[in-house]
Amino acid sequence: MSIATPARLGVVGAGTMGAGIAGLAARCGLVTTLFDIAEAPLAIGRERIDVSLDRAVAKRRVGADDAAAARARLTTTTALADLVACEVIIEAAPERADLKGELLARLAEVAPGAVLASNTSSIAIADLAERSGVPRRVVGLHFFNPPAAMPLVELVATARTDASAVARARALAEALGKDVVDVSDGPGFLVNRCARPYYLEALRIVEDGAATFAQVDRVCVEDGGFPLGPFELMDVIGVDVSLAVTRSMWEQSFGEPRWRPSPLQVRLVGGGRLGRKTGGGFYEAGAGWADLPAPAPAARTTILDRILAQLVNEAAFAVTAGVASAAEIDRAMVVGLSHPRGPGAWASLLGHDRVIATLDDLWTREHDPRYRVAPGLRRAAAAAVGIDA
Ligand code: NAD
Repeated sequence: MSIATPARLGVVGAGTMGAGIAGLAARCGLVTTLFDIAEAPLAIGRERIDVSLDRAVAKRRVGADDAAAARARLTTTTALADLVACEVIIEAAPERADLKGELLARLAEVAPGAVLASNTSSIAIADLAERSGVPRRVVGLHFFNPPAAMPLVELVATARTDASAVARARALAEALGKDVVDVSDGPGFLVNRCARPYYLEALRIVEDGAATFAQVDRVCVEDGGFPLGPFELMDVIGVDVSLAVTRSMWEQSFGEPRWRPSPLQVRLVGGGRLGRKTGGGFYEAGAGWADLPAPAPAARTTILDRILAQLVNEAAFAVTAGVASAAEIDRAMVVGLSHPRGPGAWASLLGHDRVIATLDDLWTREHDPRYRVAPGLRRAAAAAVGIDA
């Protein structure tokens, strides 16, 4: 379906994500109106956008005239009615279903022509769509932090979303320079779901006493080619944020064992060690794995095999659940998270048999259902050796 690129965007919530999205949109030529409930958060959001524009000019990534034009395209408001002419409105309000549902219902009245997009990380889009009263106009547009720099956006339609609303949301995300991946509505959507094992299996390796967190990080970076190890990455993201995503997926699934939160992470959060933002998490501020002891060669293989096996396994479950195709999952993990390869490519590199042997061995030792092999993975292994499964 060919659809005109939206020219007017509304963004609701001027926090980390809302300000980032609004600043990006203004830079990309959209007339952008940023709403928040009070002047104070708007001033903070505006300041953040100004600083990022100044930095882009200083680095010569944006010309001074273009930065001035971007500023002129952005207005801020505490009156929801000012969003009346917007073609798309992205809500980036706090992560509460009641608050977001009420907001979307008000937006539906205020801007009758707008597609309403939620940037929620964890609430079902179908739930928000029903609460809005206009489910045909509601989609999920899940940006990653920071929105200007992260290339991927997850686009989530529900069974009740109009095709024209999906097309307009896609045109908007593309106008912001994003790589759009279509994802079904479910716990963690695609990226948060398929990335879970990177953190959770790493945490379990440490809980099992098989390695230290610094050893796991070192192996993931040096042997796996990941840009950051799971523990240093959790310190960057926020240990509490990482835990909240896991907890939400686990609760939404009524206790899927693969998504069971880690007691180690819970203890860290309980102690206020949330990562870089609190001056320390797994690591002390300024410290890293490079100064700490490396694991023995045999342990290196075990660490990487466990994490990769669970990444492959999670993706196989996700394909069967209809989250996205195997190829889309691979693309999203590489583009969205800079993984060196997607789970399908890891499976081809290692061999399906080796992945399954790792999971079966863990199952034999622990009898923990988090290590049950996805039926799709067993089928893929059988197909690879010519067995008609
Ligand atoms: P934030 O706390 O930084 O910002 C939320 C903003 O919403 C604040 O400025 C607040 O004043 C405003 N707000 C409060 N009540 C409101 C209301 N009733 N109507 C409109 N605005 C209201 O939060 P954030 O980190 O920007 O997250 C926003 C959304 O984006 C959440 O749904 C979150 O799950 C999602 N998200 C966050 C990240 C991330 O890394 N921070 C990444 C992807 C998605």
